[in-house]
Amino acid sequence: MTDRFAIFGRPVAHSKSPPIYQAFAAQFGIDLDYRKIEPTADFLSALEAFRKSGARGGNVTAPFKLDAFAAATKRTPRAEMAGAVNCFQFVGDDIIAENFDGLGLVADIERNLGFPLAGKTVLMLGAGGAVRGALLPFLEARPARLVLANRTVSKAEDLAARFAAYGRIEPVGYDGIGEASFDTVVNATSASLSGDCPPLPRSAFQATGLAYELVYGKGLTPFLALGQQCGARLADGVGMLVEQAAEAFNWWYGHRPDTAATIRALTVPITHK
Ligand code: NDP
Repeated sequence: MTDRFAIFGRPVAHSKSPPIYQAFAAQFGIDLDYRKIEPTADFLSALEAFRKSGARGGNVTAPFKLDAFAAATKRTPRAEMAGAVNCFQFVGDDIIAENFDGLGLVADIERNLGFPLAGKTVLMLGAGGAVRGALLPFLEARPARLVLANRTVSKAEDLAARFAAYGRIEPVGYDGIGEASFDTVVNATSASLSGDCPPLPRSAFQATGLAYELVYGKGLTPFLALGQQCGARLADGVGMLVEQAAEAFNWWYGHRPDTAATIRALTVPITHK
């Protein structure tokens, strides 16, 4: 029997999820139909039609992560804390929602890139949906210091308060970063999409550290170029994308796929634009 899944987004044509999940399914001999759905009307009607068609579940990308959160009948603690979901499954009459973005990011940094977070210093840039999904897995990785810098400081402060029960987050504006340097600097803003770089001091990077850009496939973004000038190791978010998908696949099937070949196949060299 064919298992049916889909990713919902607007636009969704760019999504790399179908080949990622097909590659995972092939590892386990699973017959999987994974398609892209761009709802013509509202998200909820499209989701309900998909459920009634006998589908098993799927993923959600922008701008539907909050709609999916609202549509869910059950949410995992990670999804609840993030206030947004990127993955769901239909079980009986329930729509169960999860958020694997942060787990995928931590897995890529620690397992694939070999930068452990425990006891290390982390500077996270941004306070949007991606950061909301990332903070719980980052705090669970027990960094020595987690500084959260955002253009709109109040959003970073709100997130620090929201996650306070799980660990200490230091919210700052960019001028509050000072001269501290960090083992890992994560750009979770969307600045690179418009060719910008958050106003980050060069001293934030360490020559032995990691500069991680969530945006993927864009080559040497201004943020990565700054990290390169400071000698940091560079990575973009393709590994995060594949790792969050591996978590979702494991949640659906109880099998964790190997991700290395899929990450290699999707990687765009980041030495040039
Ligand atoms: P949101 O729109 O929710 O948040 C955007 C964030 O970027 C805000 O904190 C905003 O600051 C900040 N920002 C935007 N432009 C600038 C700028 N010029 N200078 C400084 N800060 C800026 O986006 P998401 O959190 O959902 O996504 C962030 C990025 O991560 C996106 O580019 C997305 O493509 C990528 N992503 C990658 C994933 C992956 O699997 N690799 C998964 C999810 C996201 P302010 O609050 O002040 O407006």
